[in-house]
Amino acid sequence: MATQSKSQFLNDIHTHLKRRYKPKPDRSPGRLSILEAVVYGVCHEDVTREQANQALSRFKDEFFDWNEVRVSPIEEVREALADIPDPEGRAQRIRRFLRQLFEKTYAFNLDALAKKPLKEALKTLQPYEVFKSDFVTATVIQLALGGHAIPVDESSRRALGRLGITEPDVPSLRAVLERAVPKNRGQEFIELIEELAHDTCLPETPECPRCELRKLCPYAQAAKEAAKGGGKHHAAKPADAPPAAAKHAEKAEEKSKAAGKDGARKASHPAPDPSPAPAPASSKKPSARGPAAPEPPGPPKSPPTKRGGK
Ligand code: SF4
Repeated sequence: MATQSKSQFLNDIHTHLKRRYKPKPDRSPGRLSILEAVVYGVCHEDVTREQANQALSRFKDEFFDWNEVRVSPIEEVREALADIPDPEGRAQRIRRFLRQLFEKTYAFNLDALAKKPLKEALKTLQPYEVFKSDFVTATVIQLALGGHAIPVDESSRRALGRLGITEPDVPSLRAVLERAVPKNRGQEFIELIEELAHDTCLPETPECPRCELRKLCPYAQAAKEAAKGGGKHHAAKPADAPPAAAKHAEKAEEKSKAAGKDGARKASHPAPDPSPAPAPASSKKPSARGPAAPEPPGPPKSPPTKRGGK
């Protein structure tokens, strides 16, 4: 990869992953309203698109409108997020956003911002606490404001890090991706990376033997070299191959052999492990998620007729 540009490398990754996962447009949320994109972003971080789509649908189907979500007890909001990790934290963030929105605008519709220049729209949205999350911000730019953004959560960052695409923080990594991947391929690219992260590039033990990218991936290559060396010699290890890589690769290979054949893809993806992956030394990462803020004092009384926004 010494002479290969980052764009070319990412393009190769895209091509390989597309062959493996065959993008399914019906699993993408398509264009959303700004409010829906915020909720979708909160639901989607570190979970699959299917799970996030289902959560968004439950909000739309099970509540009368967004005002009902705002004034509902947290247990009821949490129920819409029941099958995804940290439902309580996500429910708090969604309800807090709706409260903030209502306090500022007395409504639940931000779509006028979609007609404004992107910078101006973002400036208006930044004061909302939920926009401290780079992932939510990028999701809203990509799905509601029509801009070029590639939302990166910890799962995608883990996979990209093992592939040698590392930056000290999520906004820097996102900027690199957005420069290297054109807008018309951005959404598909990151959806494929998500598939990878939830399929083979798992937190504890990546299943490299059945990964489409094993021949391109420095982590897998270093693990293979280290395994060949049998521990007698030091295999050349790139910065993104952790010392335990060989062990992980051996374990994964054994698992793969025991399973009999390649390709038994998991039907449902496990929740992301909160413990860090055996990550590359160069990919220590702060969370992309905005810091949890204290629950604000009780909701303002709802005006009797405020509805809408859905
Ligand atoms: S080869 Fe292994 S480490 Fe590399 S992307 Fe695939 S699963 Fe992840």
